Amino acid sequence: MKIEETDIVIVGAGPVGLMCAYLGYLCGLRTVVLDKSEGPLQVGRADALNARTLQLLEVAGLFDALYPLGKTCNTSSVWEGGKFLSRQSSWWEELEGCLHKHFLMLGQPHIEKLLDEKLKEVGTPVRRQSDVAAIEIVDGTCVTELASGAVLRSRYLIGADGSRSVVREHFRVPFEITRPQIVWAVIDGVIESDFPKVPEIIVFQAESSDVAWIPREGDIDRFYVRMDTKEFELEDALSKINRAMSPHELRFKRIDWFSRFSVKESVAERFSLGDRVFLAGDACHIHSVNGGQGLNTGLADAFNLMWKLNRVINHGASARLLGTYEDERKPVALSVVATSGELVRSTKYSENGTHAQDYVKIVQKRSGNVTGMGIRYGESGLKGQRLFDFELTKSGVRTRLYSLLEYSKFSLLVFGKISEPPALPDYVQLIEISCEEGESDVWTDSGYYKGQAILVRPDSYIEGVASLDGVNLLLKGLSDDK
Ligand SMILES: Cc1cc2nc3c(=O)[nH]c(=O)nc-3n(C[C@H](O)[C@H](O)[C@H](O)COP(=O)(O)OP(=O)(O)OC[C@H]3O[C@@H](n4cnc5c(N)ncnc54)[C@H](O)[C@@H]3O)c2cc1C
Repeated sequence: MKIEETDIVIVGAGPVGLMCAYLGYLCGLRTVVLDKSEGPLQVGRADALNARTLQLLEVAGLFDALYPLGKTCNTSSVWEGGKFLSRQSSWWEELEGCLHKHFLMLGQPHIEKLLDEKLKEVGTPVRRQSDVAAIEIVDGTCVTELASGAVLRSRYLIGADGSRSVVREHFRVPFEITRPQIVWAVIDGVIESDFPKVPEIIVFQAESSDVAWIPREGDIDRFYVRMDTKEFELEDALSKINRAMSPHELRFKRIDWFSRFSVKESVAERFSLGDRVFLAGDACHIHSVNGGQGLNTGLADAFNLMWKLNRVINHGASARLLGTYEDERKPVALSVVATSGELVRSTKYSENGTHAQDYVKIVQKRSGNVTGMGIRYGESGLKGQRLFDFELTKSGVRTRLYSLLEYSKFSLLVFGKISEPPALPDYVQLIEISCEEGESDVWTDSGYYKGQAILVRPDSYIEGVASLDGVNLLLKGLSDDK
């Protein structure tokens, strides 16, 4: 039988596998994406992209296609006894180096459909109805056998196959699940209500806090309803909603999605196996939906992983670089699980009976996770911090710093004048930015990085910082990867 060769096999075409494949395409990697389903998700699941994801989408050139489809939301409100008790958004408004200080409320199907379409356009469509039967590591390569009998050989394999990952199971990666015995109903649809509708996330306080109203794109709204038992019907969830928002009333004119789920929490013990097989997204971390972090964290996994594979496959970097995927992403996953875990438990348990207010306080306290903007690699300093975004002017046209970044490259940002342009490897682009109008083609009035040279990773985290005469030292760090 003919064995097909490729750089990377990606098992799973949910948002994370699709993003891995698209980023791989941007880097010129050969990928094959396999999914057992017939097509991308049509309804339901994740409902919000956080501010960090919006920045990453700009780097991948996907922002403009998605942003107009969603609704912005930066306010968490508490409703009790027939009125709003509080409306807060300070943790969004205070974000520095960020041009979109809000969630973009947009359902997961939009992201999947766009990426699925893009992969078709670039000639690497998802191979649908492809069920993985076996995976083996043979002589340092990954051999994947499909249920159809087809065989693929790849240098690397990514398991982006969701919470019941066969890749994770196959390699017996421990994934111990905590079940806090909390059950949610989730309903998407078109509502009719005399409630004063606002584009805010509303947490309702009754005896506890068991209803949350999430604004969504288009004409739909979402309700999460914490149920007391696993056995319930739609009517039970609707009566909880009506009790929470009393004296107002609500009914659904149309229901697009109704689902029940029990909260499960886990982080896989390993995110990579011998730096050959990697787990990403729900395959290596699952948790409650509170805080809207599942999809966002999975997409950030994809952005963290693919440039490293690109460096190793296409640019001869040492395979040691791949070990940093788990080093960087596992602590993030643990913090995400802790955040959503604290949030979900607060809906049920409160010392003072102020569940909804407690909830919003936790959102504020853990806003670095919720907005995605508090994620960093390493303890402190500019190295490992996300690059700030700000407006600048290029060739007389107003644009933003993130629009100049390219996912397939490192960016050396020089904020000021250097005597001589450094010799750059082909995976580094130089962007000289003047801090005075008219001094060069690209200029900004932001003083964030004035007088510094910043080396930025493809996933827009800072790799290193130097003074303007220390640029060559920054680049030396990159060539030492070999
Ligand atoms: C009700 C609900 C609400 C949510 N709300 C949010 C939210 O607001 N914000 C947020 O960030 N996240 C949210 N999430 C979580 C989010 O949906 C997941 O984190 C996200 O889907 C994970 O993406 P993934 O690509 O890792 O996995 P999945 O989306 O699960 O995709 C896995 C893919 O792998 C395929 N697959 C599985 N096994 C195989 C196999 N053997 N062979 C081939 N293909 C296979 C599947 O068909 C699927 O397409 C929510 C989830 C739910 C259920």
